[in-house]
Amino acid sequence: MLPLHLSRHFAHRCFPRSNLLLTSYFFSTTSTTDDRHESKPSQPSPPPIQVLLTESAGRGVFATRTIEPGELIHTAKPLVSHPSISSIDKVCYFCLNNTPQPSDFQPHKVLFCSEECREQAKGFYEVEKEADWSEFVAHCRTRGLKYPFLAKRLACMVISGVASADSLDILQPARLSPEMISQMEEELCLLRGALEDSGMKGKQLTFLNIEWYAGVLARIRINAFRIELAGNTYEGLLALAAASVESEAAVGNAVYMLPSFYNHDCDPNSHIVWVENVEARLKALREIEAGEELRICYIDASMDRDARQNLLSNGFGFECNCPRCMSND
Ligand SMILES: [Zn+2]
Ligand SMILES: [Zn+2]
Repeated sequence: MLPLHLSRHFAHRCFPRSNLLLTSYFFSTTSTTDDRHESKPSQPSPPPIQVLLTESAGRGVFATRTIEPGELIHTAKPLVSHPSISSIDKVCYFCLNNTPQPSDFQPHKVLFCSEECREQAKGFYEVEKEADWSEFVAHCRTRGLKYPFLAKRLACMVISGVASADSLDILQPARLSPEMISQMEEELCLLRGALEDSGMKGKQLTFLNIEWYAGVLARIRINAFRIELAGNTYEGLLALAAASVESEAAVGNAVYMLPSFYNHDCDPNSHIVWVENVEARLKALREIEAGEELRICYIDASMDRDARQNLLSNGFGFECNCPRCMSND
C-alpha cells in the first residue's frame, strides 16, 4: 500500500498565468471566509501567504508575515471530492463528515449530514441520480479505481452548470501512458453511456470526450489528496489509529486548488489536516518567517532517504533536493 498523501502532486513547471493573477484568484476563492457569513460587516483578513514562482520548483506558497507554530494558515474547500467506496454508506456524500445511518437507510442510497449539504449536493446529485451507475461502479470496484468517481462527479457538476469543464486546467497534469489512456477510454464509455441512457442530450455532453476525461484524470492523479479525518474527539483519534492499522483509513479523495501549490519537503514546515469533513486545514508545524516558502510533505516522512527518493520520483516525477535529503538523512 502506498503511504499517505500519495496522490499528491509534484513541483509545478508550467505557469499559464502571472503571479499576480494566480494570487488574487486564490484569495478570492479560498480563504477562511465562511460563505454563509459573507454579509457580515467584518471580513477575516486574507491568509498570510502568496503564490509565487520559485526558481526550481515552479509555483510555491510563501509567507507574507511571520506565522506562529500551530497557526491555522488557511482553510480550503475542494474543487471536487468523493467518498471512498468503502465509506459511501458511512459518510456524507457531499462533505465526507461521518454520518450515522438513519434507521430507514436503504442500500444504494447516499447520506447527507445536513440539509445544507443536501442542498449543495444538488449541483451534481440532480444529474447523477437520474442515471444507472451500476456498470460504471462495478468496473471501478473490480479494478480498485477511485479517481474515476471524482471525474464522474465533476462531469455531473459541469452538466448542471455549477462547474466549468476547464476547472482543473490550472493544475499540473501527470504524464499519461498509452495504456493509461486506453483504460480511461473504457471508463469514459461507461460514464457517457450511463448519462446518455438517463436521457442526456448529446449537446449537454459535448465536453465529455477523451481529451477532457484524460486531462481531468491526469490532474487528479497527482493533485488528489486522500482524506483522513482526525475528528475532534479522543474517540475519533482512536478510531483513526485503529483504521490506519486495520484497513483503509481514507474516507474519500478530493482535489483542491491552493493546497496543490504547496511544494514538497521531507522536513516540512506546514501540514494539511482534516478534522471533521473535507475542508482542508493548512497549519504551521513551526515558526515560519515572512518570505519563507511553506512546504508540506507529500509522503510518509518517517521513511529513509532512498525510500523517499524512490517514491517521489516514481509517484510525483521529481528528485527531492530538500535540506534533509541533501544532508543524507
Ligand atoms: Zn455533509
Ligand atoms: Zn527531501
